[in-house]
Amino acid sequence: MTDAAFIIVAIDGGAASGKSSSSRTLSDRFHLLHVDTGSFYRAITAELLRIGVPAADLAGVQTAVKHLALGTRVAGRSAQMEIGGRVVPDAEIRTKQVNDNVSHFAAIPEVRNALLAYQRGQADVARTRGFRGVVMEGRDIGSVIFPNADFRFFLHADPEERARRRASEGGQDSIRERDRLDSSRKTAPLACPDGAVSIDSTHLTLAEVVELIAAPIAARLGPL
Ligand code: C5P
Repeated sequence: MTDAAFIIVAIDGGAASGKSSSSRTLSDRFHLLHVDTGSFYRAITAELLRIGVPAADLAGVQTAVKHLALGTRVAGRSAQMEIGGRVVPDAEIRTKQVNDNVSHFAAIPEVRNALLAYQRGQADVARTRGFRGVVMEGRDIGSVIFPNADFRFFLHADPEERARRRASEGGQDSIRERDRLDSSRKTAPLACPDGAVSIDSTHLTLAEVVELIAAPIAARLGPL
């Protein structure tokens, strides 16, 4: 059986840049598995904090990540990370404590390494479950995880607009500080990868952003 129609869409960008809303819409429209890699970093952060290993304890983190038993559960069109057979619920990964700590864990190369094969393996999960592809959002998808993705986009927006969007979701989140840490780390920093399509969403609606991303995908996949 040919796999020619299976596509990988990479969507990177800073905090509250519109990645999740557009990825979810694209996932529904094209029947793609939605993979929110930020939720993976958040789940690992919540787990390490739960077992009492702070990001500052480098040796502790290096040992602990080796022993994480990671699995995937597909809920609707979304991939959810299981740790030790349990999905870490949204309520535990969207807390202020996780917001404040996640970028520190994500800067540790061993944490990123522990997630590398796991993230690439989401394409196999999608194939096995009959999806037409994957839409994966994060910070380093088009640069590190899938540099040869069929489509690579980088979303950005003015910091004031992003703070407004996050506040309207009711979130308490220091997005500027996370962006600063994510952009300045040595391993896989947040940046628009060479060759990716950069979209400034400051003055665009979600529907307009989705149309910009969806047009080339629809041209490739043809009518559904
Ligand atoms: O996407 P979200 O804002 O939920 O991501 C939470 C954090 O996870 C980011 O601030 C970043 O530190 C980390 N992350 C990452 N690489 C990814 C996805 C998320 O470093 N691909």
